[in-house]
Amino acid sequence: MTLLYEHDDIRDAVARLCQSFPDDYWRALDRERDYPTAFVRALTEAGFLGALIPEAYGGSGLPISAAAAILEEIHRQGGNAAACHAQMYTMGTLLRHGSEEQKQRYLPQIAAGSLRLQAFGVTEPTSGTDTGSLSTTARREGERYIVNGQKLWTSRAEHSDLMILLCRTTPRDQVQKKTEGLSVLLVDMRHALEQGLTIRPIRTMMNHATTELFFDNVEVPAENLVGEEGRGFRYILSGMNAERILIAAECIGDAKWFIERASAYAGERQVFGRPIGQNQGVQFPIAQAYARMRAAELMLHEAMNRYEAGGNPGAEANMAKMLAAEASWEAAEACVQTHGGFGFAEEFDIERKFRETRLYQVAPISTNLILSYLAEHVLGMPRSY
Ligand SMILES: Cc1cc2nc3c(=O)[nH]c(=O)nc-3n(C[C@H](O)[C@H](O)[C@H](O)COP(=O)(O)OP(=O)(O)OC[C@H]3O[C@@H](n4cnc5c(N)ncnc54)[C@H](O)[C@@H]3O)c2cc1C
Repeated sequence: MTLLYEHDDIRDAVARLCQSFPDDYWRALDRERDYPTAFVRALTEAGFLGALIPEAYGGSGLPISAAAAILEEIHRQGGNAAACHAQMYTMGTLLRHGSEEQKQRYLPQIAAGSLRLQAFGVTEPTSGTDTGSLSTTARREGERYIVNGQKLWTSRAEHSDLMILLCRTTPRDQVQKKTEGLSVLLVDMRHALEQGLTIRPIRTMMNHATTELFFDNVEVPAENLVGEEGRGFRYILSGMNAERILIAAECIGDAKWFIERASAYAGERQVFGRPIGQNQGVQFPIAQAYARMRAAELMLHEAMNRYEAGGNPGAEANMAKMLAAEASWEAAEACVQTHGGFGFAEEFDIERKFRETRLYQVAPISTNLILSYLAEHVLGMPRSY
């Protein structure tokens, strides 16, 4: 199974591209909290961000394992694909549920890089993980929707032309289940910014270009509704397996970067007249992190295998994401510890990657929610919420 997913040619091409964006490129961006515009442009021009867009719409029509290889390699090379990874999976909402007219209008431009679909507006300040309780509304008035409300943690909103927005179109008291009555709108950010949308950046512990959004009577043409009104929650859920798989791949890339750096340093650094890596106390945490990374990688392959066979790998994709996020964190810990004081020095990049990889135990879904999914949907225990 491993061989099936190597995609060596793609990995080599991504690694070559990443050589033009070395550690000091990412370090400088991190210091200033700047967006990696040149890197995202290079990825787009090389066609990597259009990997999952079918050839009929101008993309490469590659399988999810190829997209995972692209993202993993970026992270393995020390970069951070968080600046652009969402384009790969948010595009899927349009691809699976959009009308033919919407797909013809947007997908070729996204594939060519003339339109950016990087923003995904689901989370809100008061609803948190409880998506069905979101309170941003879209009221239909003739041929348009009027959007009001607030989104939180909408990443890349300042670097995106389009946004996939989940909002309530039928009031909560008129539907039986809170996950009903939600709809997906494709919002043209350029237009929305001129008439009622405000974007406020949020400074976070890592460089992530995340924001909060305020909608004040923002008009969205009714033709920008994706799929049917009221079915938006299902549409968002249907993209979750791809999202989990791709994030897991990034974590595997991070884990490999940390393990490679830690092993190399352990062999070089001389203390008490011998390499620190000669001490088992230094070796074992790195070896342990390697074993955990490989186990997570196998689960990721299992999830991709089922995904590409057309099945629903909900359990495997969630487990892969959880195990990979834990493995990258364990590798990060081992890498800092192996480097001693230098692990904290900006110029070694370890502290930067350490901060970056911590996110994935919380977003796009936190570990507790994955455990709850496994307990209730896989193991059949009673629902907790
Ligand atoms: C940097 C960053 C970027 C993000 N980008 C985006 C984006 O682009 N678009 C978007 O829509 N969202 C985005 N998010 C939001 C992200 O998906 C959420 O932060 C995440 O899903 C957790 O939701 P929350 O922060 O509201 O935590 P909460 O829901 O408030 O949960 C807080 C803690 O309580 C735990 N918890 C909650 N309920 C339960 C329960 N029933 N059982 C056990 N534990 C529970 C959670 O696991 C978590 O640890 C981003 C977040 C961050 C930090």
